[in-house]
Amino acid sequence: MSLKQQYINGKWVAAISGKTRDISNPFNQEVIATVPEGDESDAKAAIAAAREAFDNGEWSSTPATERGAIVRKIAELIERDKEELARLESLDTGKTVEESRGDMDDIAGVFRYYAELADKDGGELIDSPVPNGISRVVREPVGVCGQITPWNYPLLQASWKLAPALATGNTLIMKPSEITPLTTIKVFELMEEAGVPAGVANLVLGAGHKVGAELASNVDVDLISFTGGIVTGKKIMQAASVNVKKLALELGGKNPNIIFADADFDTAVDQALNGVFFHAGQICSAGTRLIVEERIHDEFVSALVERVKKFKLGSGFDEETQMGPLISAEHLEKVEKYVETGVKEGATLAVGGRCPEDPELQKGFFYLPTIFTDCTTDMAIVQEEAFGPVITVEKFRAEEEAVKLANDSIYGLAGGVWTNDIAKAERCVAKMRMGTVWINEFNLYFPHAPWGGFKQSGIGRELGKLGIEEYTETKHIFQNLKPEPINWF
Ligand code: NAD
Repeated sequence: MSLKQQYINGKWVAAISGKTRDISNPFNQEVIATVPEGDESDAKAAIAAAREAFDNGEWSSTPATERGAIVRKIAELIERDKEELARLESLDTGKTVEESRGDMDDIAGVFRYYAELADKDGGELIDSPVPNGISRVVREPVGVCGQITPWNYPLLQASWKLAPALATGNTLIMKPSEITPLTTIKVFELMEEAGVPAGVANLVLGAGHKVGAELASNVDVDLISFTGGIVTGKKIMQAASVNVKKLALELGGKNPNIIFADADFDTAVDQALNGVFFHAGQICSAGTRLIVEERIHDEFVSALVERVKKFKLGSGFDEETQMGPLISAEHLEKVEKYVETGVKEGATLAVGGRCPEDPELQKGFFYLPTIFTDCTTDMAIVQEEAFGPVITVEKFRAEEEAVKLANDSIYGLAGGVWTNDIAKAERCVAKMRMGTVWINEFNLYFPHAPWGGFKQSGIGRELGKLGIEEYTETKHIFQNLKPEPINWF
């Protein structure tokens, strides 16, 4: 596989230490690529390049229309190479190629969206309360941005950070997850081809506690944008305090999906499954907490179980496959422990709860889709993120109880409500403490709408116009048209 290396100051380079890391396919553990394993010194070199590229002002003073054109070109190149990128993403993550193709369309869409927004904000004039004054508000790039991404949606998460940062004239250093760097490397090749100048966008590969920690703590980095787990997020927040960096955190979720008895039953069953088992549950917004009205609870669970038993697990490259493997042996172990905890806590295992026995799946990190019933909010399995194919089901009788259960979490990323009573749906979502709420829908997002969490699910918003604001500072410029002495002193 002809893959290039780290990208620092417009050059493809090996790690300074010379170390490398093998990247393997979670379906069969075959090594699919070997990439440099950077560390703090590589991160420092990239930060220096990004600092110089920002401070010389060439990129930030490039007309926004030209920056937008380069971002648009990146979208076009992603569309040109969509099939290659999709296959690479599936090799690296195990997800089905069909899912990866969908991801690539979304990713191109994110670059297109920010290309369009690049030159749309010319600032605003304020009616100055001071006579003979002109008061303007303009937005400027924040500066040097450190960007750290997770392994579940490697390139999608990268695009949410790269596109707005470039469109607004920042310079950046990206560190993808060390286990899934392949599509990010490829997109840096496309960014070079699109004409992003040397030093503006830099790519460093390697472990989080080395490369990521350097980005978070280095005083030459002005903003750190992180997507990943809550424990790492807290460390980054602490490290970023060293120079009071701007901070954007997209952390975990434990997302409730409320099903009322008056919902369209078959659609709610189908979408409840989709809301969790897509990408084997490795989605921050997966609707893993089903909260089902008592009247339909038993029937609803039976329908879920029947469907789950028919799921086809396998290679992401097999057209029949509906669910691929988990990302790694370590992650599989985490999911197994979580399920063991559920059993110990007294939840009832309705289906799954183990690895599949199919001989063809033994080299991959597969786990059967799993449903727990008789769950209560005091259980760890209801409170903690498994980040795997596991649903917990809770019961409710009254509307208020459903909302109370939904909000009983340290997280506040996303949630859903299924009902044909639209007034009831509106009453519920008004009280749900989450950054995104869906009515008769789950897991839908698009570049035009902001994404982010309430509570411990994060700080700030990606996507939408707010995604642009994240990468800009606001400056007020006041000009006195008739300066004269004040004669106070
Ligand atoms: P993780 O926190 O382990 O790692 C994320 C990234 O942080 C990786 O690139 C890793 O190398 C880096 N990192 C690790 N330690 C670091 C440190 N000390 N300093 C700086 N960087 C460090 O998360 P993960 O396991 O890769 O991803 C799964 C998590 O991501 C889940 O909790 C999921 O909910 C969350 N996630 C959230 C969103 C969202 O939009 N809110 C989207 C996707 C994933």
